[in-house]
Parts: sequence; structure tokens; C-alpha cells
Amino acid sequence: MSRRVLVTGGAGFIGSHTCVALAAAGYTPVIFDNLCNSDIRVLERLRQITGSTPQLIEGDVRDEALLARVFADEPFAAVIHFAGLKAVGDSVADPLTYYDNNVRGSVALALAMQRAGVNTLVFSSSATVYGQPDHSPIPEDAPLRPANPYGRSKLMVEQALSDLHRAQPGWRIALLRYFNPVGAHESGLIGEHPQGKPNNLMPFVCQVAVGQREKLQIHGGDYPTPDGTGVRDYVHVMDLAEGHVAALMHARTRAGLSILNLGTGQGASVLDVVRAFERVSGRALRFDIGPRRPGDVPAYWSDPSLAKATLGWRAGRSLEQMCADSWRWQQGNPRGYD
Ligand code: NAD
Ligand code: UDP
Repeated sequence: MSRRVLVTGGAGFIGSHTCVALAAAGYTPVIFDNLCNSDIRVLERLRQITGSTPQLIEGDVRDEALLARVFADEPFAAVIHFAGLKAVGDSVADPLTYYDNNVRGSVALALAMQRAGVNTLVFSSSATVYGQPDHSPIPEDAPLRPANPYGRSKLMVEQALSDLHRAQPGWRIALLRYFNPVGAHESGLIGEHPQGKPNNLMPFVCQVAVGQREKLQIHGGDYPTPDGTGVRDYVHVMDLAEGHVAALMHARTRAGLSILNLGTGQGASVLDVVRAFERVSGRALRFDIGPRRPGDVPAYWSDPSLAKATLGWRAGRSLEQMCADSWRWQQGNPRGYD
């Protein structure tokens, strides 16, 4: 039985960490990535962590001919599909690019798998599919009403894969809805390096702490939350990575479709993150509390109990550890892999 796993988007933030977890579990990750939002130098870092350089197939998941060749060349036990675009604002400005990349790319990949007889697939979905929830914690059967094209592209892929499973019940599919992935591998060798000004909180906090940005703008201090700032379910990227391996192992043991939240089940406010980061870095962070960011949900966090019951997985790393690992990565690599 092959231990090779095709990891689309494996050069990116969550994908690269998942390659580490796959290697630790005895799998051989093969990265398929067009490098549109990642850096080939991640391969050398993965070698330093795992002891071997993963194979990279440089290509686009929309390239059906290439996918056919990849599956014809060597057997794969499964596919983990991270490749996609993820910037909410860009998806509003340029929806067709998002549907093309995320939806067409996923359909092309599943078709290639079907033709090759590979039927185990783990897909990166997102808590964005819930939109503004009625309440938290959010269970998987909460209403799905994504508020932007990015979130709708994830929901469309979930629906396409659910239809596929209904038509062909032999498929083994896990749809994983991540909450807010942050942190980095504890070695500090791989992590997240957004291009340009970060939209997300943790990369912004890191850049303020290292002196690349003057201060953090907190988007809103008048939310109905304990300290008035927005609340999210931050989850350590290595916990997420291990969640993918658990989902893969589960899918390999039985045919079926699982839809699972991957989060901690705990909400943390923007100020909780700032304070935790200050504690672990020993640096004071400058911030201003400004207006709300349009479209932001005040507070949400996951109900992770189904993932625990199904996979035996839970996100165990603390907010302090998320901050400490982000900080180690940022300090060692202030310009990413440059
Ligand atoms: P990332 O941008 O770091 O990684 C995505 C990778 O996919 C990149 O290496 C990019 O070069 C590659 N890629 C993009 N389009 C491609 C294509 N058409 N063909 C081949 N490769 C392509 O992002 P990430 O944070 O690691 O996210 C991974 C997945 O998880 C994405 O699908 C994202 O939507 C999803 N997700 C991310 C978050 C988050 O906050 N980071 C939350 C929920 C879901
Ligand atoms: N946030 C903030 N300042 C920033 C970036 C984010 O105050 O520069 C807040 C944001 O309003 C939200 C939380 O931090 O309450 C998490 O934001 P992020 O963009 O990381 O995740 P998302 O909102 O997509 O869940």
C-alpha cells in the first residue's frame, strides 16, 4: 500500500506544516503547488525539520493534463487539497478568479482522482462557510451562509464533494472547517509570511513586535464581548496539521464523508492575543483601538466535539504557545524565506 500523499498547496502555510506532520506519521508527502503564494525555499526548511526534502511538482490544480500524468506516474494513497486563494477582500474584488481557482481547481482535482481510482480526499474548508452564526460554539450542522465569494467558493466545493460522495459512496472524504490558524512549527524554520500588509491579526502583531510596523490597529473596541474587541477561535497550525493526519487515517479506514470543525472551542479576544504575545515576547505592543472593520463578525468559536469523537483529535496547544511559536518564526525570519 502506497504511503505517498499528494499535498496540493503543500508549499503554503498550513500545507507545509502538514507535510511535517505527515512525515512524522510515516507518510511521504509529495507537494503539488504553483507557488503563487509560497516560496520554493520552504523545501530546504522541510528537509531540516524532517530529514528529507519532499518532492515538488510545480503546477496548477486546474491543469488536467498534468494531474493525469501525476496520478499515472506513481500510486498515491490519498490527496490533501490545500491549494486555493484565501484573501476575502480580493475575492470580493475579483470573484471569477476565486471561483476559477478554488472551485474549478477542486473539480479538476477530484476528476483526475476519479479517473486514477484514488478516492481518499481531505479538503481545506473554512469556518467562513458559517458566515455570521446565530450563536457560538458553532456545531457543524449550523446554518451555512457565507458572506463573501471566498466563503461561497468553499461551500460550493463542499457541496460538489458531498454530491460526489452521494453518487459514489466508495469515496472517503473529509471536509475540514478551520477556524483561525496561527503559530508556526516550534523549530521556527517554517511559518506564515503574508505578502504586503497583513490582513490577519497574528502576522500584524508579529510585525509590530519586530519593529516592521509602528502599531496595531484594533478594529473595534465596542463589540458586545467581555473587553469590547472581536473574539475568534485561534488554533495552532501544528494542531491543525495533526488534525489532517488524523482525518486522513480515519478516512483510510472507512468509506464515508465527514464534515468536521477544527478549532480549540475557546474564544480569545484581540486584547487577549495582544496580552499573551506581550507575555511571551517580553515586548510591549503599541496599539490603537479604531473603528470596526466592515463585514467583521463580533465573536465566534467552534464546537470541536465532533472532531474529538470522530478522530480522537483535539487542539491542545495554548494561546501562549501559538504566540511564542509565531514570535520565534518572525524573529528568525523577518523577511520570510528571504
Ligand atoms: P497559503 O496561501 O499559504 O497556501 C495555499 C497554497 O496553494 C500556496 O502555496 C499557493 O501557492 C498554492 N496554490 C494556490 N492556488 C493554486 C493552484 N491553482 N494550483 C496549485 N497551487 C495553488 O494558504 P494557507 O493559509 O496555507 O491555506 C491553505 C488552505 O486552507 C486554503 O485552501 C485556504 O483557503 C484554507 N483555509 C485557510 C485559513 C487561514 O486562515 N489560513 C482558514 C481556513 C481555510
Ligand atoms: N484584527 C484587528 N486588527 C488587525 C487585524 C485583525 O483588530 O490588524 C481583528 C479582527 O477585527 C478580528 C480578529 O482580529 O476581530 C481576527 O482577525 P483576522 O483577520 O485575523 O481573522 P478573521 O476576522 O478572518 O476571523
